[in-house]
Amino acid sequence: MMNTELELGLERRIGKRSAAVVEKHLGITTVGGLLNYFPRRYLSRGELTPISEVPLDEEVTLIARVISNSTRQMRARRGSLTDVVISDDAGGPHRPGHPGAGIPGTLKVSFFNGYRARAELQPGRRAMFSGKVTRYGGSLGLTNPDFLLLDEDPDTPGMDPEKLAAMPIPVYPATAKLTSWSIQKVISTLLDTVDLGALADPLPAAVSAREKFLPMPEAYRLIHAPQTPEDWRRARDRFRYQEALVLQSALARRRAQLAAEEATARRPVPDGLLAAFDRQLPFTLTAGQSAVGKTLAGELSQDGPMNRLLQGEVGSGKTIVALRAMLQVVDAGGQAALLAPTEVLAAQHFDSIRRTLGPLASDGLLGGLGDHTVQVSLLTGSMPTAARKQALLDAASGTAGIVIGTHALLSDNVSFYDLGLIVVDEQHRFGVEQRDALRGKASKPPHLLVMTATPIPRTVAMTVFGDLETSVLDELPAGRAPISTHVVGLAENPGWASRIWSRSREEIDAGHQVYVVCPKIGTDDDGDFSPGEAEPGPGDLEDDGAARELASVTGVVEHLREEPALAGIPLAPLHGRQDPTVKSGTMASFTANETKLLVSTTVIEVGVDVHNATLMVILDADRFGISQLHQLRGRVGRGGLPGTCLLVTALEPGHPSRRRLDAVAATTDGFELSQEDLKLRREGDILGSSQSGGRSTLKLLRVLEHEDIIARARQDAQEIVGRDPSLADHPVLAEAINDYLNPEKEAFLERG
Ligand code: ADP
Ligand code: MG
Repeated sequence: MMNTELELGLERRIGKRSAAVVEKHLGITTVGGLLNYFPRRYLSRGELTPISEVPLDEEVTLIARVISNSTRQMRARRGSLTDVVISDDAGGPHRPGHPGAGIPGTLKVSFFNGYRARAELQPGRRAMFSGKVTRYGGSLGLTNPDFLLLDEDPDTPGMDPEKLAAMPIPVYPATAKLTSWSIQKVISTLLDTVDLGALADPLPAAVSAREKFLPMPEAYRLIHAPQTPEDWRRARDRFRYQEALVLQSALARRRAQLAAEEATARRPVPDGLLAAFDRQLPFTLTAGQSAVGKTLAGELSQDGPMNRLLQGEVGSGKTIVALRAMLQVVDAGGQAALLAPTEVLAAQHFDSIRRTLGPLASDGLLGGLGDHTVQVSLLTGSMPTAARKQALLDAASGTAGIVIGTHALLSDNVSFYDLGLIVVDEQHRFGVEQRDALRGKASKPPHLLVMTATPIPRTVAMTVFGDLETSVLDELPAGRAPISTHVVGLAENPGWASRIWSRSREEIDAGHQVYVVCPKIGTDDDGDFSPGEAEPGPGDLEDDGAARELASVTGVVEHLREEPALAGIPLAPLHGRQDPTVKSGTMASFTANETKLLVSTTVIEVGVDVHNATLMVILDADRFGISQLHQLRGRVGRGGLPGTCLLVTALEPGHPSRRRLDAVAATTDGFELSQEDLKLRREGDILGSSQSGGRSTLKLLRVLEHEDIIARARQDAQEIVGRDPSLADHPVLAEAINDYLNPEKEAFLERG
């Protein structure tokens, strides 16, 4: 331990009683824990807090002026009630959309038996209040808040009034029982008793010098007890960078460790399956596909494992790129596994890969006969036992060159003869743990290719997938027709409900096919939650849908069979709860253009590829997230025919959830949409444990806002780890990484 001071029990520095209070309310037990409990923001002592911007139903800290103070006896029970009206002096700037909009900048503060409030909160006084702001009818209120008179602050006797007014007040993430200023007080004691000068700095001196960062002891002092706004800004910049560097160093170290592992090189052979495949390809690869293909071919040929993320817009042709990599591995005598998030998608990949391979795919009966064929096997959880056993056998014996499957591939009874490459499709459904489980299926680490369904912003890629190298496919194959997307608002235009079906009929009469997507399977269930299928979208968090009956596959099918505009049209339901043979039968009939209209859940979200489909109708589209909608509409407009997507919603035009729909309708650029998605969602959802592999949430760093910092830190981390892979010469940084990766040790990281 380099920084033993940080590991020290808090009672040693702030006394037993304070330490007990801090542990009880904040869960912090060490000196380092409390030092690193940073203010969430700063109030300006000289300014009142705009009351209309204060969030409702959260613990808040605000500064206000007392306008009036009155006390009366309560009628129903003993005791008195003191009502204090406080104001921000502004009359409230009215932020549209905010719950406080339209309400003057005053708050009614009520105290039961509030003797101190009655005496101290006299009109004209300025005080800091801490509590939960709630709304009663048209006015905002605080009940029994804690307060601190500002003019009598004991910490600042005899200070120049102007300086005092400019002095920032730190606001800590407080709890109902422990106010921000109590936390400030304890930390101020801590700052006096800890030997900050003895702390070792995780930042390399060269980096600190380049960035002109404050020395660490001063930074700790100024982030907690700034004299000016400039003070805390400089301190915060330093710790923010430190956070980025620790995170990026952790990732760089994992990359280095993965790269140092030994893998089997799978070099291309001159006259193998891949060469034959390329000769029979009915189209030319896009420039991006060729470039990424070269990169993959090179990495597969080395004896360190490939660990690569392939990002690509919907329809950019990732599957061909992956298939070519798989063929190279098969040519070199290894096996490849393709992991898909749903059974429908696995079956779809199985069919389309065999179709694409054509004569190069053997069907198992002829397995192993010719040099220039490969057996492709499908392995899913719901397969009939005999077929499953055969697939397991083929994987274990090496008869199957390519094995396609779902989570079932992760189970213990699946083994491979010589697994050389794992391809994970649609990464957002698979966490780091699952990647590692699959890697464990090979005696030597296999090569790994991860494909994301939707593009993700660069900084998210650098953090969430920071242990993988990244490639991007940023162009669509030629002849891809544009998709036009429209929001169909039934609230303002009820008549459009039937217009949707006559529009569908027109499409079908023109020889094309239609997808209809619903958020639910049946009329009496809560949604389609079969594994890996419908994930609750942001809309599920809002209660507006609860009262409304959502479109369901079975309900809509019933309705459409009676719909005059669709009389005589073959239509079929598809959802995750159907028997697998029914599902594959339906998909086959839709692919063959016998079924004209498919009513389904999001099982068709990813990967399904029917070129003749030109119209997609998404019912109750507000129930889906941005990336889901973007994925869904990528299913139309594939065969050179222009595609149309209708986002149908019953929500009123101003409803916040309609912003998502408008965003999706406004652009088809997946990168732009994922930025928008990030802004509308809480960051924690993106860096949540399932995706980040159990890592704690970030404190000062925001992946969208701090792209520059993250990029610089990544560069620094790469250099540090490149020169010193085990971080033997950077023990303090190594220690900070360990603290970061073992967040249980510092439970407070989860809060805030
Ligand atoms: P995604 O990146 O969304 O997974 P797919 O791999 O499913 O996209 O490809 C979409 C469609 O484009 C498939 O039908 C595929 O055969 C076709 N495709 C892929 N590459 C090309 C290309 N270079 N030229 C023409 N069509 C292509
Ligand atoms: Mg795909």
